[in-house]
Formats: sequence, C-alpha cells, structure tokens
Amino acid sequence: MFNEANMFNQKNETMDKHHNHEELFNQEWEKGQKNELIEALKAGEGFQEKLFALPGFKEAFAHKLTCLECSDGRVNSHLGKLALAGEGLLLNSEDREILVKAIKEQGLTITGHENCGAAGIAHPGPDSDNYGYQKAKELVADTGNEYGEVHADKFTSPVHNERTLVLEGTGRFNVADLEGFPGQFISSAAHFGLSAEYQKTEAKALIGIALGDHSFGKRFDKENPFYLIVSAKDEAQYEQLTKMAEEIAADYDGLVKVSGFIAPQEVLAQQV
Ligand SMILES: [Zn+2]
Repeated sequence: MFNEANMFNQKNETMDKHHNHEELFNQEWEKGQKNELIEALKAGEGFQEKLFALPGFKEAFAHKLTCLECSDGRVNSHLGKLALAGEGLLLNSEDREILVKAIKEQGLTITGHENCGAAGIAHPGPDSDNYGYQKAKELVADTGNEYGEVHADKFTSPVHNERTLVLEGTGRFNVADLEGFPGQFISSAAHFGLSAEYQKTEAKALIGIALGDHSFGKRFDKENPFYLIVSAKDEAQYEQLTKMAEEIAADYDGLVKVSGFIAPQEVLAQQV
C-alpha cells in the first residue's frame, strides 16, 4: 500500500511538473504574441521602422561583442553576444579553421552551457553537456580566449522562448541585450565567414529545436510562423543572406518566414 501511494504521488509530481512546464511555455508564447516586432512581422509591414525606433537600438551596435556563446536564446552572459550553435561544435574541420582564424586572441569569453541542444545533436545521451563543455574548452585552447560556463540557474528564460533566428552578419549587433526584441536564436556564422553549407545546416538545426517538443513546437503555424531575421551590414550581404534564408524557409511549408534589415550606416560608423 505504502509503495502504491508513493508511486501515485510520484506520478502526480511528474504530471504537475509537466503541467507547470506547459504553463511556462504558454506564458512565454503570449509574451511573444504581444511583442510589437512580432506583430509587425505578422502584419508584413513596419518591422524595420519599429526595430530602429526601439530605445537602445543604436546603443546595441556601440560596443565590441566580447562573448561567443551558443545560439540558444536562454544563454546570455551580457558581455555582448556573438553566437554559433553549440559555440561551433557542429563545424566541420574546414569551417572550424575559418572560425579559429577569425577569433584568435580576440579577448572573447567562450561559454559552454547546460542543456545544450546542439551538443545533444552532436553527442546524444546523458553525457552531451560534458561533450559541449569539452568542445568549448578545445576552442578556447586553440584560439587563446577565455572559458566560461552558463548553467540553467542563469538562463534568461526558464524555457526555450525563441520566435526568431537572427542571421547576424554585422558582428556588431548585441541583439541579445536589446529589450523589446522577441526571443531569439542568434547565428554569427555569416560574420565569421563560414560556408553557406554550414550556415544552412546550422539554421535547420536551430529551426528543428524551435519547432520541436522542447520549444514552442506546435504553437507555430502559418499565421504564427518562426522568423529568420537577416541583420546585414550592407546591401550585398542583405541580398545574399535573404536569398539563403528564403531557400531554407522553403522547406518548412509556411511555418518559417523571412524578414530583415540593413543596419543604418551611421550606426555602424560608431566607434567600438
Ligand atoms: Zn547550446
């Protein structure tokens, strides 16, 4: 009897946990629904104007970004976030070489983090976080940067809350600290000059997380799609990234849409 009661309680606890989790997702989703940039994206107009008018938009380009973290929207050390999925652990050796050259002795903090989806893809199972930490440490060793770690108690959101993936080509946009921007994955792959093939693979891995059961998942539909946001330094990069983003989105039957902007030149002209 005692055991049965115990089992019953345990089952209830699991159900409560699941229920609370769903509640958290619902709350975060509703926050996104009320975000004025999401509203503008859904309306198909005004995104760029509203973004440029956000308090702190210009300031978000005013400092050197000094942290390389996972694209994961919950991870932000507030040091100015450059990002790759799993801090680059999905890179093949050729692209990794490009990254190593790009970030050599740049005074960056490279952070591994708890509960990393990219590490889970590369190395499934209970040891995936350790694999992620190890890969981040190897990158630190190869580039002469600093190592850091972000644990779940420091996450900026208790659950995955990404409504967007920012394809960040300027290397200057501290979108992670821009209040008013909806939940976002970030990829700085274009800024680092990584191959188009890698950029596509990474974007699809992140979209897979967003549309999956550990994120907003089925809350996305054609009226409420996931957005790829191109953040470009000039016209040429804007066109190139938008074309790539459209090719990626075409595989998702209307669940993924593309928008973007070219950073104003006076903003990029600021000293960093
Ligand atoms: Zn991660």
